Order: sequence, then structure tokens, then C-alpha cells
Amino acid sequence: MSQEITLRHFVKWLQRYGEYIDSRESYLSELDAAIGDADHGANMARGMEKVCARLAEEAGDYENVSLLMRSVAMTLISSVGGAAGPLYGAFFLRAAKDLTGNPTAVTLEQLAHMFRCGLEGVQQRGKAELDEKTMLDALSPGVAALESAAAAGQSVEEALQAACTAAERGMQHTIMLQATKGRASYLGPRSIGHQDPGATSAYYLFLAAQESWGTDGE
Ligand code: ADP
Ligand code: MG
Repeated sequence: MSQEITLRHFVKWLQRYGEYIDSRESYLSELDAAIGDADHGANMARGMEKVCARLAEEAGDYENVSLLMRSVAMTLISSVGGAAGPLYGAFFLRAAKDLTGNPTAVTLEQLAHMFRCGLEGVQQRGKAELDEKTMLDALSPGVAALESAAAAGQSVEEALQAACTAAERGMQHTIMLQATKGRASYLGPRSIGHQDPGATSAYYLFLAAQESWGTDGE
């Protein structure tokens, strides 16, 4: 029997993500201060605050997962300055592109496919490859782990746990990488030895999904 990930789960995930970004705002900006311009936390906090405000106002009004994803994307694109806004916007916009029939719930296979499409959106938008020290380095292993777990018939809980572990490893792997995309690339070899801020906020996406799934009281 395949478990359902409902619209309500998606809302809880985004709210949890908003809490993470809010509580880690200065940490994310500190990471960005080392290899960028110290604004990643503020950028993401501004965007997620808007997303969460809209969720609070309209939580019961989203008719389906596609509309919710589109709304999040538009809010992030219009309110987050810097590179991360359009990139996360592309993730959420593209995540729902193959969802047909305006579903109010998806299976784990569909969720994994949504994340894969979102990842491709980020790649198309930012033109980065793996190991360029960007958010992709956390997103990509996280998505791959979701897909493997779905293919192996694991539960949503197991899949999200595996995705978190893989994304965290990917995030940690950015420390030893030299940045060749984005603002951090201006530092050249001096970018080595620092964790990428965008990979860190991308890891929180998986962490928030895993935690919000576990705490859902439906
Ligand atoms: P800015 O670099 O404009 O100040 P942010 O500080 O909000 O924007 O975001 C920086 C993060 O964006 C980086 O840590 C990196 O993960 C991500 N990033 C930058 N350029 C790209 C790209 N081309 N593809 C994917 N991610 C990128
Ligand atoms: Mg920055």
C-alpha cells in the first residue's frame, strides 16, 4: 500500500522550513560572509517569512499541490534578492510541472519525481554541475536518495531519513570544494575550507520534510 503525502503535509513542511530558516538566519549569513556577501540568511528569511505569512492566510485555500508549489515559487522569486531567490523559485515552480490531475496528495514516487524536476529547474536556471560548491551539492544526493528509497518500496519516513542523511553529507562535502559558480567563485581556491550557505539551506529542505512528516497529527 502506498502512503499519501497530503496537501496538509506540504503546508507543514513549508512551515517547518520557514522555522528552520528563521532560527538559522544568522548562521546562514555567517556562512555566506566567509565566501560571499553575508546575505544568504537574510535573503532566505525574507522569502520564507512571506511564504509562511501567505500560508497562514491561505492555508486552507490551496486546492492542490501544484497551486501550492507555484504560489511558493512566485513568493520566493518576488521577495528573495540574490542568486538564491530565482534558484529556489525554479525548484518549486518546476517541482509540480509533471503533476497531472491537480492532486491533493501524492505518492512517494511522485514526491521523488517532483524533487527531481525541481532539481532540474535549479540546474537549468543556474547552469551549475555537481561539485561546483552550490546548493546542488546537497539537493542532488538528497533527490537521488529519495528516488532509490521510492524504487526500493521504502516508507515515506525511511525515504525522508535517507534523503536527509545524503543531503547532509553533500552539504558537508562542499567544505572541501572550490567554488566555480556564484559569488563564492570570485575567491578561487580561497573558497576551499568553507561550507556553502546554499547547500546548507537546501539540506534544511530535507530536514524540514523529515521532521514535519514525523510530527503530523492527521
Ligand atoms: P548571492 O550569491 O546573490 O548573494 P545568496 O547569498 O542568497 O545569493 O545565495 C548564495 C547561494 O546560492 C550559494 O551558497 C550557492 O549555494 C547558491 N548558488 C549561487 N550560484 C548558483 C548557481 N549558479 N547554481 C546553483 N546554486 C547557486
Ligand atoms: Mg549572498
